[in-house]
Amino acid sequence: MATKTIPSICPFCGTGCGIGLRTRDGQVVGVEPIKNHPISKGRLCSKGWSTAFGVGPKHRITTPLIREGKSFREASWDEALDLIHEQFSSYLDSHGPQAVGMVSCARATNEDNYAIQKFGRAVLKTNNIDHCARICHSPSVAGLSRTLGEGAMTNSIGDIEKADVVVIFGCDPTESHCIIGSEMIRAKERGAMLVVVDPRQTRLAKLADVHLQLKLGTNVALINGLLNIIFDRGWEDREFLDARCEQEDLLRKQVSQYTPKKVSEITGVPVDQLIQAARIYSKARAAFLAYGMGVTQYATGTNNVMSISNLALVCGQVGKSGAGINPLRGQNNVQGACDMGALPGVYPGYQNANDPAVQKKFSEAWGTSVANKPGMTSLGMLESAMQGQFMGMMVFGEDPVVTDPDQNQVEKALRKLDFLVVVEMVMTETAKFADVILPAASFAEKDGTFSNCERRVQRIRKAVEPMGQCKTDWQMMGLLAEKFGIGGMDWNAAEEVFDELVGLTPIYSEMSYPRLAENHGLQWPCTREKPQGSRVLHRKEFPIGKAQLIPLNWLPPAENPDADFPFYLTTIRLHFHYGCGSMTRKSPILERETPKGVLFMNLQDGANMGLYNHAPVSVSSRRGYLETRVVLIEELPQGLVSMPYHFNDTPSNQLTNDVQDPITKMPELKACAVKVTAL
Ligand code: SF4
Repeated sequence: MATKTIPSICPFCGTGCGIGLRTRDGQVVGVEPIKNHPISKGRLCSKGWSTAFGVGPKHRITTPLIREGKSFREASWDEALDLIHEQFSSYLDSHGPQAVGMVSCARATNEDNYAIQKFGRAVLKTNNIDHCARICHSPSVAGLSRTLGEGAMTNSIGDIEKADVVVIFGCDPTESHCIIGSEMIRAKERGAMLVVVDPRQTRLAKLADVHLQLKLGTNVALINGLLNIIFDRGWEDREFLDARCEQEDLLRKQVSQYTPKKVSEITGVPVDQLIQAARIYSKARAAFLAYGMGVTQYATGTNNVMSISNLALVCGQVGKSGAGINPLRGQNNVQGACDMGALPGVYPGYQNANDPAVQKKFSEAWGTSVANKPGMTSLGMLESAMQGQFMGMMVFGEDPVVTDPDQNQVEKALRKLDFLVVVEMVMTETAKFADVILPAASFAEKDGTFSNCERRVQRIRKAVEPMGQCKTDWQMMGLLAEKFGIGGMDWNAAEEVFDELVGLTPIYSEMSYPRLAENHGLQWPCTREKPQGSRVLHRKEFPIGKAQLIPLNWLPPAENPDADFPFYLTTIRLHFHYGCGSMTRKSPILERETPKGVLFMNLQDGANMGLYNHAPVSVSSRRGYLETRVVLIEELPQGLVSMPYHFNDTPSNQLTNDVQDPITKMPELKACAVKVTAL
C-alpha cells in the first residue's frame, strides 16, 4: 500500500510544531516536518522525529482491563463501563459528589478535555476536576490573571525574532522546547542581547550577555532588586505606568527595601551584574521575556510569576510586538486543557465555576443541573483519599506516581482510594494501581485540536484507525454518560464536540475546523471583534481595566540544606525525554541517548566526596530514598544537585517536597534538601 502523509501537530512539548504523519498499511511508520508551518518552519527536534515510536503497537493497551487479584483480565467496553457506573453511583449515593473526581489530560485534545470536564460537572455534579497544569503552570494562570487579567503567554513565539532583548528565566528551552530554544539562539546571532536567569549554567547561559546565576529559590528577591535599581535611576516607563498600571506607590515602597547590596547577599549575584541586567531590560525597545518551571514550581510560585509581571509592566514591556511575559507551557495541550476548564475553579474559557450565573449558563446549555460546590485540586483529592473521604477517581493519560511530589505519599493515597479508573495508551506506574484500565486512542488515531503555549489552536487529524478497541476520551465519556442516563454527550465526530465547545467558550467563539485549517491555527482570543485571532494580548487594554502591580516579599524555599541533608536538589528536564517518559521512552533512539535517570553534581563537590563520573550513589531526603549514578559537571554550582524526573526507575519525586503554594496548591518541586552517599 502507498505511503501517505497526514498533517498533524507534535504530541510532545507546548511549542506545537507541525508534523506530517507518514502512514503505510494502517500504521504510522514515520514523521516529517511541515515546511510552511508558522512556528516550526520545517524543523523538528529529536523528540518530534521520534513520534512514531510513541504511538506504535508495541506496549499499547488495546482492550478494557479489569483488575483480578494482582493482575488484570480483558473485558468488554460494556462490562468495564457498567462496573465504573456501579461504583461511582454508589459513592455519589453514600458520600455525594465531593467523593469522586477526575484528573484530565494535558496530552489529550481540547475535545477530550471538554468532554471530561463536562462529564464531571454535568454527570457526577462535581468540580473535582484538575490536570497536570497544577504541577507546572497553575501559578502562571493565577498570577497573570491577577496582574493582567489573562493567564497565558501574552505574545507569540514569532515575536522572538522581533526582540532586541531576550530574557530566559528559570528554564532551558534548548532542552525542553527545542525549537523555541533555537529561535533564541538565532536571535542572539542576529544581534539581540541575551539575559539568562538560572542557578545552572545552561546552554543559553553560555551564550548570554548576562547570566544572573542566582541561588535556588531567590526569584522574588532578584526581581525586587532589579526594580529597586530601575526606580532609583528613573529607568521605568513613565508613560506606560501612568496610563496603564495601578499600585505603583505600593510597589515602590516594597522594593525600596531590596537594595542592590542586600539582594546581592540573598541571591549571590554581584551588584554590577544586577545593574547591567536592569539597564539592558529597561532600555530595550522590545524585550521578549520567557520563563519556565524554575519560576512556577515553588511554594511561592504565584508570587514569582506576579513578580515577573511587575518587572515587565514597570518597563512597559507588555502589549507590544517582540515583548511580553511568556510562560513556556510544558505539554502539547496544557494550554488547551486549561482553556477547556479542566481545572476545579473554571468552566471552559476561564468562566468562574463558583459563579451562579456561569453555572446557570452551562446548566441551560447542557440541559441538566451542574456542580455547585468548589472543587478540589488533584493533590487535594489525594489528600482527601488519605482521610478516607474521597472514594472514586478517573485519571486520563497522566502518571502522578512519577510526576507528583513525594511519591511514597501518592502511592499510599492511591491505595487508600476505593476505586481507580485509568485511561491510558500504555501500562504506567499509576495504571498499575487501577481497578479498571480503559484503552485510549493515540493522537494519531483521532481528529481534534491542540492549543500550544502561544494560544494557537491547531488541528490534528486521524491518520490511522484506533488500535484494537481503543477510543477517544470524548467517546468514552459519551458512553459512560449514557449509563448514568445523562444525554447530550452522544457526539458522532470530534468536530461536533468542537462546535459545541466553541459556542460556550467566548475566547474561541470565531473558530471552526475549516477556519483553523485555512489559517494554520488561530490564536485566542478569536472573537467577532478579532476574527483572525490575537498575536499579542493587551495592546490597548487589560481585561481588568488597569494592570495590577503587586508588592511582594521574598520568602526562601520551605526546606533548606542542613547538616543531615547538605545539598539542594532541583528537578530538571532533558532534551531527549518528555514528561513521565511513557511515550519518549518507547523510542529506542531517544532511549539510547539517555537511557536512565542520573544525578548531576558539581565537579568539585564530587571530588570532595571522592566520587568519579558514573559512580553509584544513593540520594535521600526526609521523604524518600533512591539509588542512581552520578554525573559530574561544571554547569551546576557547588551545593546544588539536579535530577531529571522522566525516569520511573530512578524516581526523583521520591525525594521532592509536597509543601504547596497557598494560592494554587503548586508543590515545591524545584527545591528540597538531600543527602548524597557513595555506594
Ligand atoms: Fe515537538 Fe516540542 Fe520538539 Fe517541536 S520542540 S518537535 S513540539 S517536542
